[in-house]
Amino acid sequence: MRILVVGAGPVGLALALALHRQGLAPRQVDKAPTPSPWSKALGIQARTLEALDPLGVADSLQSAALHVRGVTFRLGGAKQAFTLRHAAHPRFPSMVILPQSETERLLAERLAAVGAAPPERGVELVSLNVSTGAVELRHPDGRVEAADYDLVLGCDGAHSAVRKAAGIVFEGARYEEKLVLADGRAEGLEPDYINIFPGRGGGAFFFPLPHGGWRAVAMLPPDAPPVPDEDLRHFQLPGMRFHDATWWSAFRISHRLAETYRTGRIALLGDAAHIHSPAGGQGMNLGIQDACALALALPRGETALAEWAETRRAVARTVLARTDRLTAMVSGRNAAVRLLRGVALRLVPRLPPLAARLERALAGMDYPAVDGPGRLPSSGIPT
Ligand SMILES: Cc1cc2nc3c(=O)[nH]c(=O)nc-3n(C[C@H](O)[C@H](O)[C@H](O)COP(=O)(O)OP(=O)(O)OC[C@H]3O[C@@H](n4cnc5c(N)ncnc54)[C@H](O)[C@@H]3O)c2cc1C
Repeated sequence: MRILVVGAGPVGLALALALHRQGLAPRQVDKAPTPSPWSKALGIQARTLEALDPLGVADSLQSAALHVRGVTFRLGGAKQAFTLRHAAHPRFPSMVILPQSETERLLAERLAAVGAAPPERGVELVSLNVSTGAVELRHPDGRVEAADYDLVLGCDGAHSAVRKAAGIVFEGARYEEKLVLADGRAEGLEPDYINIFPGRGGGAFFFPLPHGGWRAVAMLPPDAPPVPDEDLRHFQLPGMRFHDATWWSAFRISHRLAETYRTGRIALLGDAAHIHSPAGGQGMNLGIQDACALALALPRGETALAEWAETRRAVARTVLARTDRLTAMVSGRNAAVRLLRGVALRLVPRLPPLAARLERALAGMDYPAVDGPGRLPSSGIPT
């Protein structure tokens, strides 16, 4: 079977590795000349490590990552800590933190170690016939190559050329809130904990990074004025100071879901198929799980592929609904939501069943395993 994987971000790399394990040898292209150096997605969930385990890469990801000890909340000057029990998965801790660039590097290293062909860099998909699988690929020297594939797998991100060529609608909208993030140093935070400062109309999160340093993420109200670069590099909140940022970014986020994942000779995965708020750290995790599940379905024929498309889209729809609710909770847009948020944050550490539920959610263990029956009950998420 001639398979083209378009995109060598985390999802494309995981897919190439998973297909190789099935004895399939896809060709992989990426228009970027080099891998992205940015730390973007940080959290790797237990469910994702479990999916990557058979590919021989989960251990290296785990040992490079920082193991989060828990979550602290600062509410009205009081500090509340919620320490994880690390019981959500028998083999993997609740959630580990690793910059996306490191995750991609370890996936690419594993691809090389198993003898798979490396991604062809600087090669862009410029046209695609969804019915025949005929593609045109532009090479770095400007040459355009024509080729035919039985299956073209779109792991080419939110602006996916594969999705656009197939005319698949990317349904959804933009959130009102703005997000800013910065990687830098900080004092006054609880080490190895995710530190959360809920606010009025927004909130700030600090994620510990593996080699020291912190990722700051703040959600700002829609009417907030643009934040000057200098204020992203150095700022203070009660009891803490953030400084010397090496990377920062300010952006608006959207929530969108492809109307289908599978048509003609194509399938969509990762950000090409779904994008949502980073609340809950689901984006990259969901995409890597799409990839591992697809590689298991592919050798079982068209019915299994159709089932893969339906199941993974149902999972993404649930994630979108959940991250919408979480985003509203974090942003604390109205007084009732802020009150509810305050009560929930105070209750979680005190009520073991609630704490266990939160821990399972952080670990992504309340979504189906990629090799399991997979189907979500129509009422929502299995617990
Ligand atoms: C600033 C920022 C912060 C983020 N923070 C988080 C976070 O905290 N948590 C989280 O879960 N997620 C986060 N994300 C989202 C996360 O980065 C994505 O979910 C993840 O990168 C999706 O992986 P992917 O492989 O599907 O797509 P991408 O990483 O976008 O990779 C797509 C690849 O396809 C290639 N490509 C595109 N078009 C073509 C073409 N026509 N031909 C060939 N190649 C092509 C691109 O060059 C790229 O390498 C963040 C994203 C950004 C931008």
